[in-house]
Amino acid sequence: MQNFSFDNAFVRELPGDPDADPRPRQVHGALYSRVMPTPVSAPRVLAWSREVAALLGLTAADVESGEFAEVFGGNALIEGMEPYAAAYGGHQFGHWAGQLGDGRAITLGEIVNEHGERWEMQLKGAGLTPYSRTADGRAVLRSSVREFLCSEAMHHLGVPTTRALSLVTTGDTVVRDMFYDGRPRAEPGAVVCRVAPSFIRFGNFELPSSREDVALLNRLVDFTIRRDFPELVAHGEDPSHEDLRARWFTEVCERTARMVADWMRVGFVHGVMNTDNMSILGLTIDYGPYGWIDDFDLDWTPNTTDAHQRRYRFGHQPRIAYWNLGQLANALVPAFGSTAPLEAALQRYIHVFTETDRANMAAKLGLASCTDEDVDLMTDIYELLATGEVDMTIFFRALADVDADHPSLDPLRPAFYDDDKRERTEPRFREWLERYAGRVRRDGVPADLRRTRMNAVNPRYVLRNYLAQEAIDLAEEGDGSLVVELLEVLRRPYDEQPDKVRFAARRPEWARTRPGCSMLSCSS
Ligand code: AMP
Ligand code: MG
Repeated sequence: MQNFSFDNAFVRELPGDPDADPRPRQVHGALYSRVMPTPVSAPRVLAWSREVAALLGLTAADVESGEFAEVFGGNALIEGMEPYAAAYGGHQFGHWAGQLGDGRAITLGEIVNEHGERWEMQLKGAGLTPYSRTADGRAVLRSSVREFLCSEAMHHLGVPTTRALSLVTTGDTVVRDMFYDGRPRAEPGAVVCRVAPSFIRFGNFELPSSREDVALLNRLVDFTIRRDFPELVAHGEDPSHEDLRARWFTEVCERTARMVADWMRVGFVHGVMNTDNMSILGLTIDYGPYGWIDDFDLDWTPNTTDAHQRRYRFGHQPRIAYWNLGQLANALVPAFGSTAPLEAALQRYIHVFTETDRANMAAKLGLASCTDEDVDLMTDIYELLATGEVDMTIFFRALADVDADHPSLDPLRPAFYDDDKRERTEPRFREWLERYAGRVRRDGVPADLRRTRMNAVNPRYVLRNYLAQEAIDLAEEGDGSLVVELLEVLRRPYDEQPDKVRFAARRPEWARTRPGCSMLSCSS
């Protein structure tokens, strides 16, 4: 582990908090505070990702060394690490919330690997920072298992995301009132090391802008473009040039559009799309009360904290991302000479989202391209899937097995949750299948090619909420085997994996109402 090559650009180039007081407070005129992780009693590696370890140049022997658990549990630093917590603000549930910041995330450092890639390593749950507000800076095992597994699952699904290196149990307990109902309990604590080229969020720009600290805002914009978007900078170009800034914000809008289109493709609901949880790189970030669609429902949200308003429901995500980009654009106005390029970039979001979503629809249906009628075909099946209570993942996977010359419901039956609803909606499903089969025949694609195309975008395996909960139940007893097994299965989500079919099944009835499986809160 001594071979890391650190290049801590964020703390080297940007202004930090001169005050070393780790206690929660408002931090002005700075983009971060240096802070040490708080040690834990007995760090133990419960699971780790071999792909992320490889990105960092770590071997299995490194991970199994006692030093690894100490470093990635927060008890020790490697030479070259310069830990800090970032200052950012954010709009939470549609309202400006002021300073938030890394309340329990502490970056250890940025490394540049042998391929010249920059990776920032950040511990989540590593203890108090100046941004912890009234909370404890810790994370519970259940939410750490969820973040660890989902980061890697999303990556293997081809969805842009922050990654996770390790899941370390701390040997300490953390008290949480999981449903904010006055019944706190002590839960096992954990620390996840997450990894990304950058953890800068929309909220990092919003905070200095809200304080009218334009100099600080400009410094962050220039830094972000130079460090995180070098491909946009023409040789010798001044990074503060307005054209460059416009290209950059356009790129942010386009990446965000493609990320959300991917969420819709795989049935992922983020759950807390506050602007502090939006990555400037267009990565899925901050896995909290997220959930996966079992029975298709555009109105579903896993987040009980949002159950009333349903602001962050599945079908609303594309519009929320646009709203969030609008907040970022507002924050960037002082860094731009005019608002026109910001407005044009927001239009690009709509365009790129629509185009990507249509391409995804075509691929999900196995069509060569997506016409306006195909959008209707998709809209109609979405409506029918919701009425008939049909599993999204199983349905689209099974649709590839429907014979376009003799369309039958048989391959699709395992996707239904309720026999009565199935019987009631069967005639309409048959009609839809006839339309679909007709369209496939007109497309003239050979059946094998159609199946291959569909199976490349319609996963067999996703991190169903109840599966994550089963892994958590065992992990809380000290048994990380299901975390490891799920990680393994989810490395190949589009492959059949015949000995793992149990993980591709419909959500069992017991999971319909169980906390953690159907309902989650922000308490983590
Ligand atoms: P989230 O909703 O998890 O994105 O968190 C919103 C803000 O609250 C962020 O600034 C987090 O760092 C902070 N936060 C959440 N949980 C904790 C915690 N247990 N300790 C300290 N800060 C926290
Ligand atoms: Mg957050």
